[in-house]
Amino acid sequence: MNPIFGSTDVDDLVALGKRARWAFGFRLVLAVVPLVVWGFLPAARTGSADAVLGGVVAYLAVLVLGEVLRHAGRRCALWSITLALLADGVHLAWTFRLLGGADGPMAYVFVIHAMAITLLASFRSGLKVAAWNTLVLLLVVQADVDGVFGERLLGSTFPTAGFAVLLAAVWSATFTTAAFAAVNERELRRRRYDMQVLRRFSLAMEGGHDVRETAGQLAELCRDELLAQRVVVLVGEEDPAGQLPGRTGGLVHVLTTADGLSCGETPAPGGDSVLGRAVATHGTLLVKRLDAEADRDLAQLLPEARNVLVVPFRAEGQVRGALVLEYGQRRALVRRRSRPSLDRRLVSTAQQVAAHAALAMGRATLVHRLRLAAGTDGLTGLANRRTFDAGLDGHLARAERTGSPCSVLLIDLDHFKSVNDRHGHLAGDEVLTALAGVLAAGSRPGDLPARYGGEEFAVVLPDTDADAATAVAERLRAAVERMPASVPVTASVGVATCGPRHRTAVELLAAADEALYEAKAAGRNRVVAARAPRGEALRTTG
Ligand code: GH3
Ligand code: MG
Ligand code: MG
Repeated sequence: MNPIFGSTDVDDLVALGKRARWAFGFRLVLAVVPLVVWGFLPAARTGSADAVLGGVVAYLAVLVLGEVLRHAGRRCALWSITLALLADGVHLAWTFRLLGGADGPMAYVFVIHAMAITLLASFRSGLKVAAWNTLVLLLVVQADVDGVFGERLLGSTFPTAGFAVLLAAVWSATFTTAAFAAVNERELRRRRYDMQVLRRFSLAMEGGHDVRETAGQLAELCRDELLAQRVVVLVGEEDPAGQLPGRTGGLVHVLTTADGLSCGETPAPGGDSVLGRAVATHGTLLVKRLDAEADRDLAQLLPEARNVLVVPFRAEGQVRGALVLEYGQRRALVRRRSRPSLDRRLVSTAQQVAAHAALAMGRATLVHRLRLAAGTDGLTGLANRRTFDAGLDGHLARAERTGSPCSVLLIDLDHFKSVNDRHGHLAGDEVLTALAGVLAAGSRPGDLPARYGGEEFAVVLPDTDADAATAVAERLRAAVERMPASVPVTASVGVATCGPRHRTAVELLAAADEALYEAKAAGRNRVVAARAPRGEALRTTG
């Protein structure tokens, strides 16, 4: 059961403990006021000093009891609030009777109490307190008039006009304070909610290192937290890592609806489309409907869209994408006016979300770039040894699982040292770059050409048996020979294919290295395929 004056309706906007401390301080003043009035306003003394003092002491005792309860756990704390509010009413009514009634100063204290409680607790508590105080006051007044307390201090003709004015003042003060407090409270509540939403967005996107994944999370959060019916997150265009734009130079989009997420590519927006305008002006745009012609691509993603909010987001000074939120006909958010109109708060939150998103996307792009750099050889742009080793392990594991063959080529330039010696290291580097180009161009998608170290290169050929790998090696060797480099070079190639005797990467590479050594020994500019030990023909697992 909730206490009648339990202020759970204010949640933790201001901590309950903090409000309770303020209320306790206010009540101490409330306890002292009758003594001060008694001491300094003799004209207000209608009751006896003992009665005033007794009332104040009893009130203080209840306050102390309330404080003890407040520290005995949250449930007891709520009861202590109720107890104190009930005691307030009795204290005020009692001292009202003893200190001049409606014409005395306690009438003002009534009004101040109503306002203070309304502000400290909540507007609903304020109304409840006003009702309770009125009830207790009427009871005390009636009891006084009936002579229950012995001496009639308020006069037999009571209630008077002054009493009616007091009640009107208490109620109007409560209503006015409650109304204004409610407005402020609502705004505070909304802001707190907005902050929580932004916090959830930041937390959700904090760990995202993949742009598409981050875009997907963003889309889902916008649907759930910003109450959009459908959301499209568009990213790309300016992505320097080349990961995001579609091959057409368009944008990557992530679309989320009630049915879930989908991902794809969209052409770059035209200048007169709503997306194009938002990107060009770096501003937020709201349109009632998408233009069938200008917004054709967006309309394909969001058919029959109504009330579409477009918020572009920037990172590193450039527009990196846009958040497109469709609100349909949601009455609470979309106002029916001739011009499109959306809840201002929502737009502001969407803009802040877009700012967070831009940061998250920027971070994801940076991580992508760093990963790319960590796995790439700086001179040739091919995979480096680290990427090669990881790739080879992966391909061998797959070959083991599926029983498909997998081969490795080790390619070493012939007499390269003399190229450096005669033409200089820069010319040597040029040759290495040209060789990398030949390997990249001569590889199928799925092959992994890499710089193995120095002037040695390697290529992983998945799903390729020994014969096919030897053919590929021969093709590459011939291509190196024909390579249009400033210095003509040749290369020797060792080929090894995984099988019963070459299962691991180390075994396979050792076999390829041995074959390469044989090629060098046999006169260079040739391909040698590894043979199994003891002269057995190499058998592939395929
Ligand atoms: P072989 O036919 O036996 O392979 O003779 P080689 O001269 O090519 O001998 P080796 O393979 O041992 O040559 C390695 C040379 O490659 C030594 C070094 O000068 C050169 N080299 C290694 N890395 C680089 C590089 O990054 N740039 C340049 N310009 N040269 C490099
Ligand atoms: Mg070498
Ligand atoms: Mg060499």
